[in-house]
Amino acid sequence: MAQTLDCSKAVEYLSTYSEKDGLSVHDLMDNKLHGGLTYNDFLILPGKIDFPAKDVDLETKLTKKITLKTPFVSSPMDTVTESNMAIHMALLGGIGIIHHNCTAEEQAEMVRKVKKYENGFINDPVAISPSTTVETVKAMGQQFGFTSFPVTETGKVGGKLVGIITSRDVQFHENDASPVSEIMTTDLITAKAGISLAEGNDILRKSKKGKLPIVDSEGNLVSMLSRTDLQKNQDYPHASKSFQSKQLLCGAAIGTLDSDKQRLAKLVDAGLDVVVLDSSQGNSVFQLNMIKWIKQTFPDLQVIAGNVVTREQAAQLIEAGADGLRIGMGSGSICITQEVMACGRPQGTAVYKVTQFANQFGVPCIADGGVSNIGHITKALALGASCVMMGSMLAGTSESPGEYFYRDGKRLKTYRGMGSIDAMQQTATNANASTSRYFSEGDKVLVAQGVSGSVLDKGSVTKFVPYLYNGLQHSCQDIGVKSIVALREETIKGNVRFEIRTASAQMEGGVHGLYSFEKRLHN
Ligand code: IMP
Repeated sequence: MAQTLDCSKAVEYLSTYSEKDGLSVHDLMDNKLHGGLTYNDFLILPGKIDFPAKDVDLETKLTKKITLKTPFVSSPMDTVTESNMAIHMALLGGIGIIHHNCTAEEQAEMVRKVKKYENGFINDPVAISPSTTVETVKAMGQQFGFTSFPVTETGKVGGKLVGIITSRDVQFHENDASPVSEIMTTDLITAKAGISLAEGNDILRKSKKGKLPIVDSEGNLVSMLSRTDLQKNQDYPHASKSFQSKQLLCGAAIGTLDSDKQRLAKLVDAGLDVVVLDSSQGNSVFQLNMIKWIKQTFPDLQVIAGNVVTREQAAQLIEAGADGLRIGMGSGSICITQEVMACGRPQGTAVYKVTQFANQFGVPCIADGGVSNIGHITKALALGASCVMMGSMLAGTSESPGEYFYRDGKRLKTYRGMGSIDAMQQTATNANASTSRYFSEGDKVLVAQGVSGSVLDKGSVTKFVPYLYNGLQHSCQDIGVKSIVALREETIKGNVRFEIRTASAQMEGGVHGLYSFEKRLHN
């Protein structure tokens, strides 16, 4: 019988093995052995926990010059990111990239909304003019669900503030035809633009008023604070803000057509921080020329180029001046590129191959597409990505564009690929919308690379993104790394270990053997 070893020396005994348990990332991704891998094809082996999950630092780079507190990026798709999504992604520590399937003016307006957003302030208060009748105010109350309106000379935000009308003013006023100028409150307490949320709330509390209009130095209405929002104003400690202006960070996508140059000028004028060159195959002369032009014309603007899946594609874009890369071709949930074009790469391998090359030049990479759970996010980061871009994960939230609808008793929202016939036809009918992502949008015969469908209601990103954040911290804790940076470093050194999953291992790793179950991911 073999001799039993001394239990007190078990850890020391490990050093007699030439290799650690599992595979290094380099062996895992040796595609001479098994071809390309996707996230579901492998697992990360657990390490040692000696810190609480809440201590895990998720700070990461988006581009050479932009650092975020969380690695979450929303995709530039017309069913995912408009200003509301971009505002909330930035508040929660990530960033939203506003889509470009709209006119340049519409896109610039969305960027402006993000840049002008101030947490807790109502930036678009509904204003009325002094001649508005009591009857109209009552009808507006029905429509909006509130009856307090600032009154300006022009009836718009930006006009001179002359009064405020509240439900108490109109409720018992019998003559519906009276203009509000006869009954509005003109003895106003206001605050000057530039005050902090805390200062504004303090004035509201002391004044015992329901609303606090914020005005500029000429007395023009800028925004408003509301007493009913006092409790609701959340603190966003991770918010992504620019260092100097303290405004939320905002990204937007453009194509590589000549008209995109004028579009970009409008976006920069609106305050854009980072532009994403939106192409399914980024290694094109159009994109290389565009990067060089942007770097000359707007040297302070960060440029994310892509998409790429090989280091040969990446090298071209890095040399042209890209500040970040977007990786993925054919991995998106709505994508049929691999089927139709025969081009693409399994996303795990694509992320590993491109990041190992790009990271040497200090160019951060976004793993784009194919992320459908927290485990996928951890795997993308372990393979070398600095951020993940999500479409389907964020579609169907209350901050994504579009209305909810019901089918088969389920509450749904539309989610569609930007290369779907639906999305490309919208581009074709809008002369000023410029997407050239699939090089087919202007053709007579469209070649679809995406589908149009629907996703379940996911509630608000203000709950969903914190769930992703906490989940990612716990995942890193299980692996035994205290930050995203450490996850990447320990992976490269071979200390974070991996294992291939067979088809049956994948089945075992999912829920199995139950008659029925409900999968609730968070409270
Ligand atoms: P998801 O997160 O898996 O849903 O993938 C979203 C990503 O799919 C986007 O960020 C794009 O890179 C990509 N994508 C968007 N529309 C299409 C399409 O129509 N065909 C192929 N890929 C698309």
